[in-house]
Amino acid sequence: MPQGTCPECKATVHVDEDADKGDIIECDECGAVLRLVGLDPIELDLESDYEDDDEDDDYDDDYDDEDDERDRYY
Ligand SMILES: [Zn+2]
Repeated sequence: MPQGTCPECKATVHVDEDADKGDIIECDECGAVLRLVGLDPIELDLESDYEDDDEDDDYDDDYDDEDDERDRYY
Protein backbone atom coordinates (compact mmCIF):
# COMPACT_ATOMS: atom_id res chain seq x y z
CA MET A 1 0.00 0.00 0.00
CA PRO A 2 1.40 3.43 -0.90
CA GLN A 3 2.47 5.65 1.95
CA GLY A 4 2.91 9.37 2.39
CA THR A 5 4.02 11.58 5.22
CA CYS A 6 1.66 13.80 7.17
CA PRO A 7 2.90 17.42 6.81
CA GLU A 8 1.43 18.20 10.21
CA CYS A 9 2.91 15.50 12.47
CA LYS A 10 5.30 13.61 10.12
CA ALA A 11 3.50 10.35 10.74
CA THR A 12 3.23 7.78 7.97
CA VAL A 13 -0.12 8.02 6.21
CA HIS A 14 -1.40 5.04 4.26
CA VAL A 15 -2.97 5.87 0.92
CA ASP A 16 -5.45 3.66 -0.92
CA GLU A 17 -4.11 1.88 -3.99
CA ASP A 18 -6.90 3.42 -6.06
CA ALA A 19 -6.63 6.90 -4.59
CA ASP A 20 -6.46 9.77 -7.07
CA LYS A 21 -4.88 13.19 -7.00
CA GLY A 22 -7.14 15.55 -5.11
CA ASP A 23 -8.50 12.87 -2.80
CA ILE A 24 -8.92 13.81 0.84
CA ILE A 25 -7.15 11.62 3.37
CA GLU A 26 -7.29 11.95 7.12
CA CYS A 27 -4.14 11.42 9.16
CA ASP A 28 -4.67 8.62 11.68
CA GLU A 29 -2.18 10.17 14.09
CA CYS A 30 -3.27 13.81 14.39
CA GLY A 31 -6.58 13.87 12.51
CA ALA A 32 -5.33 16.46 10.02
CA VAL A 33 -7.26 16.59 6.76
CA LEU A 34 -4.83 16.08 3.90
CA ARG A 35 -5.21 16.39 0.14
CA LEU A 36 -3.37 13.97 -2.10
CA VAL A 37 -1.44 16.19 -4.52
CA GLY A 38 1.01 13.66 -5.97
CA LEU A 39 1.01 9.90 -6.55
CA ASP A 40 4.61 9.02 -7.45
CA PRO A 41 5.92 9.69 -4.97
CA ILE A 42 2.96 10.21 -2.65
CA GLU A 43 2.63 13.88 -1.70
CA LEU A 44 0.18 15.18 0.86
CA ASP A 45 -0.77 18.79 1.55
CA LEU A 46 -2.56 20.07 4.59
CA GLU A 47 -6.13 20.89 3.56
CA SER A 48 -6.55 23.94 5.78
CA ASP A 49 -9.68 25.24 4.04
CA TYR A 50 -11.44 21.92 4.39
CA GLU A 51 -14.00 23.01 7.01
CA ASP A 52 -15.32 25.92 4.98
CA ASP A 53 -15.11 24.37 1.53
CA ASP A 54 -18.58 23.51 0.31
CA GLU A 55 -17.85 24.24 -3.34
CA ASP A 56 -15.99 21.10 -4.32
CA ASP A 57 -18.78 18.97 -5.75
CA ASP A 58 -16.49 16.10 -6.79
CA TYR A 59 -15.31 15.71 -3.28
CA ASP A 60 -18.81 15.81 -1.86
CA ASP A 61 -19.82 12.90 -4.11
CA ASP A 62 -16.90 10.79 -2.96
CA TYR A 63 -17.53 11.61 0.63
CA ASP A 64 -21.18 10.59 0.43
CA ASP A 65 -20.15 7.12 -0.76
CA GLU A 66 -17.80 6.66 2.14
CA ASP A 67 -20.36 7.99 4.56
CA ASP A 68 -22.91 5.40 3.46
CA GLU A 69 -20.45 2.60 4.09
CA ARG A 70 -19.58 3.96 7.51
CA ASP A 71 -23.24 4.19 8.43
CA ARG A 72 -23.73 0.56 7.52
CA TYR A 73 -20.64 -0.43 9.41
CA TYR A 74 -21.80 1.11 12.63
ZN1 LIG B 1 -0.69 13.82 11.19
